[in-house]
Amino acid sequence: MKIVLATHNRHKVEEIRDILADLNIELLSLDAFPDVGELIEDGETLEENARKKASAVFNATRFLSLADDTGLEVEALGGRPGVYSARYSGEHATYRQNNEKLVGELKGVPPDRRRAKFRCVISIVGDGVDEIAVGEVPGKIIESPRGTNGFGYDPVFVPDGYTETYAEMESALKNSLSHRGLALEQAKKILERLAGRKKAG
Ligand code: IMP
Repeated sequence: MKIVLATHNRHKVEEIRDILADLNIELLSLDAFPDVGELIEDGETLEENARKKASAVFNATRFLSLADDTGLEVEALGGRPGVYSARYSGEHATYRQNNEKLVGELKGVPPDRRRAKFRCVISIVGDGVDEIAVGEVPGKIIESPRGTNGFGYDPVFVPDGYTETYAEMESALKNSLSHRGLALEQAKKILERLAGRKKAG
C-alpha cells in the first residue's frame, strides 16, 4: 500500500515514518508530487482543514492520502488560537510573537484558569475512504516561556502530569506523549484496518 503525506515538512515526515515503520506501507511525501499546488487551510475547524488537504492530495495523486492539522485551544480564550494557531499574531507571525501574544492575553489570569489542550487531527482520504484520527494533550499555559527545544508554543505549554514545558523536554519524551504522537497511533490502527481490508478484498 502506498500513502502520500500531505506535507513538505521533513520533521513531520520523519516522525510519521518512525511511528508507522512496522506497517507494510510505502510513505511518499508531497516532494514526490511537484505538480500538487499549495494546500489551502481556510477551514473553520482543524477537522475541516485536515480533510481539505487530504482530499486535495488524493484527488491529485489518486493514492491514499494523510494530512494533519494542529491547534492549541486555551479555555480562558474560548478555545483560541485553535485553528489559527500558526497565524495567531498575524499572517507571517513568528513563534515568538505568537507566544508573546498568548502570554499577554493571559496576563493576570490565575493558575487554575490557564487550562489548555493541544489537538492534532489527522484525516485519511482515499477511494471510498474518509477517516479521522484525533490526539489531545491537556495541560496549562505558564506565565513566561521556558526551554529552547521544539517549536511553536512548546515553551509556554506544560502537559498534565509534568512540571517541564514541552520545550524543556528531550524530543524523544515530547514525541512519546505528544498530541501528534497520539493521533498518529490512532491513524496507524486505521491504516492497519485498511491494509487488512485491501488484502482480504
Ligand atoms: P500545524 O497544523 O502542524 O502546521 O500546526 C499549526 C501551528 O500549531 C504551528 O504553527 C504551531 O504554532 C502550533 N503547533 C503545532 N504542533 C505543535 C507542537 O507540537 N508544539 C508547539 N506548537 C505546535
